[in-house]
Amino acid sequence: MAEGQHEQLQEQFYIDLPKVELHAHLNGSISSTTMKKLVSKKPHLQIQNGMTMIDKGQKRTLEECFEMFRIIHQVTDTAEDILLVTKDVIREFAADGVKYLELRSTPRESPSGMNKRTYVETVLEGIRQCKEEELDIDVRFLLAIDRRGGSTVAKQTVKLAEDFFSSSNGLVLGLDLSGDPTVGHGKDFMDPLSEAKRSGLKLALHLSEIPSQQEETALLLNLPPDRIGHGTFLWNSPDIVEIVKQKQIPLELCLTSNIKGQTVPSFDKHHFGFWYNLGHPSVLCTDDKGVFATDLSLEYQLAANTFNLNSQQVWDLSYQAIDYIFASESDKSHLKEKWNMLKSDVFNHIL
Ligand SMILES: [Zn+2]
Repeated sequence: MAEGQHEQLQEQFYIDLPKVELHAHLNGSISSTTMKKLVSKKPHLQIQNGMTMIDKGQKRTLEECFEMFRIIHQVTDTAEDILLVTKDVIREFAADGVKYLELRSTPRESPSGMNKRTYVETVLEGIRQCKEEELDIDVRFLLAIDRRGGSTVAKQTVKLAEDFFSSSNGLVLGLDLSGDPTVGHGKDFMDPLSEAKRSGLKLALHLSEIPSQQEETALLLNLPPDRIGHGTFLWNSPDIVEIVKQKQIPLELCLTSNIKGQTVPSFDKHHFGFWYNLGHPSVLCTDDKGVFATDLSLEYQLAANTFNLNSQQVWDLSYQAIDYIFASESDKSHLKEKWNMLKSDVFNHIL
């Protein structure tokens, strides 16, 4: 077989592989194609190509990454934009072989009349419209708390999440804590997050994205969170590693994001290796597939190539991810049946 043909088959294996995506920020997932549509509607903003995406080989500081998000928010300031973005992002994940997706986003208000509640309603409408298109993907939503807003905004977001939790027919499952890790402190969020947990909402928290957060991480682990986003510097503290292991808290790991955001120096130094070797629950995710110019099949391929995983190990990684979704046990069983049905087809292609 020619080299190029072999590569193509490999790539196809990762696309065909049924996948679960658990850490995807809606606005960071906007592809360059969708971005062009949005920018053409708002020529007055004078946004050039490339201002919202980090191409292959390029890197940005975390600060620059957050600046990119400010630009993205400018081009997605109406309900119409949010509906378009939600549907495009879901269709793209479906085309990449993602069968179950938990999207997350911070409810926003804008001068165009969108408020936080209508923002969430619009995202849920996008999810429902995609369901009608009969795409082979089950999509749920987590409301995100931006650290910048402090405890007051966090409390409002928890309240909003509780309302949707009881009225959205299982579409809203939980909360995320994210945003600039240098801003605010976890102690401001303990009360609202504890309240959310008591209501039955699940918690996916960005923890230890930068080295200086150990005290905060130790505190928030008392909740405990149901999943941890990144956890890049957890392994700096043996005590924290022990707690995460004991509580078996799954980690959402995003290779390309951490390399391009420069919190990890190279793929082979990524903490995926550390946790995978411990046999700890780890899920590969994209974080911001638009900003970081990646997709989930590519993340699986990168992990496999970097850490020498064979096809069976790659399969197991995607199959085990089903156990860490926030949806119900019956949804998990349903997905596992789907995986088992697809398995022989996926492997036939690479033999
Ligand atoms: Zn994230």
